[in-house]
Amino acid sequence: MTVLFSLPPPVLVPTSTGDQFPVRRILCVGRNYAAHAREMGRDPDREPPFFFTAWAETVVLNGAIVAYPPKTVDFQYEAELVVAIGRAGRNIRSDVALSHAWGYACGLDMTRRDLQLEARANGRPWDTGKNVEQSSPLGLIRKAGEGFDPGRGAIRLSVNGTVKQDAQLSDMIWPVADIISYLSGLYRLEPGDLIYTGTPSGVGPVVEGDVITVNIDGLDPLTVRIGPRAS
Ligand code: MN
Repeated sequence: MTVLFSLPPPVLVPTSTGDQFPVRRILCVGRNYAAHAREMGRDPDREPPFFFTAWAETVVLNGAIVAYPPKTVDFQYEAELVVAIGRAGRNIRSDVALSHAWGYACGLDMTRRDLQLEARANGRPWDTGKNVEQSSPLGLIRKAGEGFDPGRGAIRLSVNGTVKQDAQLSDMIWPVADIISYLSGLYRLEPGDLIYTGTPSGVGPVVEGDVITVNIDGLDPLTVRIGPRAS
C-alpha cells in the first residue's frame, strides 16, 4: 500500500537553547484578563475563562508577514503569553503543573473579530473567527528555569510603535499553573502542545502594513507585519 500524499512536517519554533520546538496542538484561553472580558461586553465575575483550539499549522514565526485573511473587515491583534508543553500529563496538580512547561514565548492570537462576534451572537462555535491561517504568531521560546517567571512582569503590545495593550501577567484570572491543571483534566497534554493564555484589554484592528510587536518582560519580543489580503 502506498500513502497517497505526504503531509507537511510540524512547524518548528526556535528556542533559547538553540533547539527547535515542534508544534503538536494549540489550546487557547478566552477571557483570562478581567478588563478584556469587560471590553468584550462580558462580566468576568459571572463567567469564568474557557478554552478553544486552533490548528498547529496556524503558527508563524517572528518576522513573518501575516496576510490579511479573507471574509473579514475587522482583523484584530491579541497579545498573549504562550506556554510550550514539554512533558505529557493528565490530571496534573496545580502545584506541580509548571514542571510540564518546557518554556515560554510571546504570542499573538490574531482574530477575525467580526466573524467571532457573529458566531457568539448566534451561539455558534468560534472556529472561523479564531482558527485562521497564520493567526498564531509565536516568538522564540525561552526554556523554563532561565529566569522567566510566568506569574509576574509586564505584557505589552504596540502597533507601529504606539502602545495598545499594557498589563501585568499577574492580572490573569487563571494563572499558568491553574490553566495547565485545568486543561490536563480535559485532555492528556502532550509535548509540543502550545497554550495561548489569553489577552489583556486594548485589543483592536490592524490594516495592511501595520507592524505589531509583543513584549513580555524576560522574553524575546515578537514582531510581525500585516501583509496584503490573502489571494
Ligand atoms: Mn486570545
